[in-house]
Amino acid sequence: MQGKIALEEHFAIPETLDNAHDIFPDRVWRELESRNRDIHGGRLALMDEYGIETMLLSLNAPAVQAIPDPSRAYEIARKANDFLAEQVGKRPDRFQGLAALPMQDPEVAARELERCVTQLGFRGALVNGFSQVNDAETAVYYDLPQYRPFWAAVERLDAPFYLHPRNPLPRDRRIYEGHAWLLGPVWAFGQETAVHALRLMGSGLFDAHPRLQIVLGHLGENLPYAMWRIDNANGWVENRHSYAAKKRMRDYFCANFHITTSGNFHTQALLDAMLVLGADRILFSADWPFENIDHAARWFDSCPISENDRMKIGRTNAMRLFKLGEV
Ligand code: MN
Repeated sequence: MQGKIALEEHFAIPETLDNAHDIFPDRVWRELESRNRDIHGGRLALMDEYGIETMLLSLNAPAVQAIPDPSRAYEIARKANDFLAEQVGKRPDRFQGLAALPMQDPEVAARELERCVTQLGFRGALVNGFSQVNDAETAVYYDLPQYRPFWAAVERLDAPFYLHPRNPLPRDRRIYEGHAWLLGPVWAFGQETAVHALRLMGSGLFDAHPRLQIVLGHLGENLPYAMWRIDNANGWVENRHSYAAKKRMRDYFCANFHITTSGNFHTQALLDAMLVLGADRILFSADWPFENIDHAARWFDSCPISENDRMKIGRTNAMRLFKLGEV
């Protein structure tokens, strides 16, 4: 399919280039490093070859979220966003930006998002899970009350918010002891991000701000497959709906979330997600440079869905959500 739009696609700046180095063997890392640095060379050539018209670019992970010092986090976020704006400016027909945000200080994060959307022309934000704040041992999640004014700003700016994975902190990894292979994209990324998304839903955030749109990668971090059981289990236990939110989880999932195909190029999982969310809330993505564009595109272009749905998922849903012009 020509004209695809991909939106979980990363780059690095020198200060964040080494992030997640420990997950990969050296040989793989050298390849990832050069992919992460490149925007207008091999990346663009692959986009041409595999029918990707536009990429929404975002900083790699965990980057800003793993900088406990709030002022340093702000400095790196600004630097990455300014760099990204410059790159997008060279080829606005092929690249658009998603903001990195210093969530360590919710007020500063809201201001930086406003700057990115209103001055740099970015289409939304991509944040790498919880933030470490002041102390490297903290993990602060965005359902907490201090983030409500931030979310009000996100809603006011009408900016989609991509909640991207990161690994749990070492102190929260006991369940993986002796099984380090489960960290990262194999399992821990999805677990960490799905719980964060459920915390947002259960907190009542979407009752207060019903127009918020959260984007999850990897075909929803396993949530489509789990959604019925989550609500069913909450429906019969005695403390039914004891969370702050007013509705069932699936009501928020279907109204306030979009998911992408990043790093999950599997037809069975896509069909399940389509049955839960509908084709209007699913968007094509690769997860370059950590996944291959050719793997993503070859699978998506030939997977057995209707051509109408392929056009929505591959292109028009992203155009509508990120206001990329006429659908
Ligand atoms: Mn990613």
